[in-house]
Amino acid sequence: MTDDIDLPFRELVDAAPDGMLVCDAEGAILLVNAEAERMFGYAREELLGRRVDVLVPDAVRGKHGHHVAGYTGAPRVRPMGIGMALAGRRKDGTEIPVEISLAPIRTSRGLLVTAGIRDVTDRRKLERENRRATAYLMSAVDSVKDAFALFDEHDRVMLVNSAARQLLGSAIEGAIVGLTFEDIVDRALRSGVFDFSNETRDALFARWLAYHRAPSGTIDMRTGTGRYLRVTEIKTAEHGTVTTIADITEDVERTEQLRTAQQAAETASAAKSEFLSSMSHELRTPLNAILGFAQLLERDRKQPLGERQLERLQHVQRGGEHLLRLIDDVLDLSRIEAGRVAISVEPVGVREVIEEAVATLQPMAARAGVALAHACPGELAPVLADRTRLAQILMNYGSNAIKYGRRGGFARFEAAAAHGAIRVTVSDDGIGIPADKQDRVFEPFQRAGQEAGPIEGTGIGLTITRRLAEMMKGRVGFASEVGRGSVFWIELPVHGARTTGVAAADAPRSAASPLATADAARTIVYIEDNPSNIAFMEDLLGDLPGVALRTAPTAEIGLELVRAHRPDVVILDINLPGMSGFDAIQRLKEWPETKAIPVIGLSAAALLRDTSRAADAGFHRYLTKPVKVDELMSTLEDLLAR
Ligand code: ADP
Repeated sequence: MTDDIDLPFRELVDAAPDGMLVCDAEGAILLVNAEAERMFGYAREELLGRRVDVLVPDAVRGKHGHHVAGYTGAPRVRPMGIGMALAGRRKDGTEIPVEISLAPIRTSRGLLVTAGIRDVTDRRKLERENRRATAYLMSAVDSVKDAFALFDEHDRVMLVNSAARQLLGSAIEGAIVGLTFEDIVDRALRSGVFDFSNETRDALFARWLAYHRAPSGTIDMRTGTGRYLRVTEIKTAEHGTVTTIADITEDVERTEQLRTAQQAAETASAAKSEFLSSMSHELRTPLNAILGFAQLLERDRKQPLGERQLERLQHVQRGGEHLLRLIDDVLDLSRIEAGRVAISVEPVGVREVIEEAVATLQPMAARAGVALAHACPGELAPVLADRTRLAQILMNYGSNAIKYGRRGGFARFEAAAAHGAIRVTVSDDGIGIPADKQDRVFEPFQRAGQEAGPIEGTGIGLTITRRLAEMMKGRVGFASEVGRGSVFWIELPVHGARTTGVAAADAPRSAASPLATADAARTIVYIEDNPSNIAFMEDLLGDLPGVALRTAPTAEIGLELVRAHRPDVVILDINLPGMSGFDAIQRLKEWPETKAIPVIGLSAAALLRDTSRAADAGFHRYLTKPVKVDELMSTLEDLLAR
């Protein structure tokens, strides 16, 4: 520095980014650069010659003279930013945060002091914001209920929350930040926090480290106090790791409770199903006798009944049949509700099922004086459905259309394609359903005002229909108007391929009954334990010429009888004491001398499960009790005509 201090370096000094002042040993200002003018809001002339105190905040001005004297007594370079975060006073009295560096210059004028002054307003603001953001982050991380830790790329802890400190509290004294992951896990496992009854400490340590190296999914562990912990780790973009440890004890316990409850429900449901199945047996066996003998009485040619007796008998039969339908419906519904009905979906030609339903319903329609019709385009794609269950649905719609139809009216089946599905509608011009009852007809035991009426029903048919349709991924619905009629429909998804709609032709029936005309003696073996069923069968077949009936009360005896007599037909009850009907037919099908003999199964359990099992077992026919005399007789006719 020279004496004419503000001349040769003027431009250089003015270009400096920081404020600069030069003072003499007494603190009088000798030089002011452009940035210092801007910073303090003074013009240069206003400062030159004045004491530097004028730039010091009022609160510390008193002590400043002291500082100046102290510095000039022992001058040395004090670089910016080191313990010199101070405030400056602007001309308008406001204060600005500054950093100051000091350097002594010895000149011919004596000791001068240069002060570099940096306005750090912006930096302080940034620092404040940064602190605030960090505090926010910390409080957010802390408010997380799970233990949380962030590890840097060297696997050292950068951040932990209170939950993590609490979990590791007894394991780690002092600062956690800075410790390595391995160190923390090692200390935690040694601390006794964890439970090692199922896994050694080394095994858990290895498991956790392996997971930490390449985290995928989660890992679980237990604490010594019986809590369940779930660790989740995620690698960050900066090659660090975020580790969270959640206490999942409540979830685990809830899942366990649910599992137990589900198990109990399943056991109860299985028990219910078993109960229903044996109930059905118990109820159907006496019904079998009632309906069977009623049919015999009705057909008795030797001692025909009088008109009054026949009329009364028909009441017995109708009552019995109603009871039977009720039992079957309740059984079917309970099994569906218990999720025990298996649906086997296959491509099904709707036209054939409609034709079958119409043929079956024809006698009922004729009795009711309802004209039954069907209209089905020839080229309809097959639907995806369970054939038997679809038939059941159409039979239900059809029989309702007849039951709730009007004498002289119609019931019509139609099928048409409808957006990727086939819709089958069954319409009638019958009594219709009152508007205020319509929203409940698909619910169990709802008879839409027919409860007290003369039309027989259980109120379960439509419930079963809807459940079955849903199980086949189909939809049902209806429209109805009192006095005008109803349209019930079902929509089922279409199977990809197209069908030709050709129905298989029925095999021609022999005209004469072989039972009545048989010249050679025919033998039927009937294996059955219930005496009234045996009496019924003896009555039914006994007075037919040319047919010998042999009966056996157990499967074991029956098998001997079959081997000894090689009958033309075996009629086999399923629910037998000791060996069951299913076991018996298996034997018969194994033995070369008996395997060709046709076997008719008779079962009281009208459960679908049995029917499908029966098809696999090799029964020629499988009939459910109470036996329909016509059905049994026509089956026997077919077999004996061979
Ligand atoms: P139900 O055994 O009583 O016929 P459903 O479940 O099949 O039981 O039908 C429930 C009720 O819906 C019936 O009781 C009847 O009131 C009404 N319903 C069903 N189909 C028809 C129809 N085609 N016409 C008029 N009412 C019907």
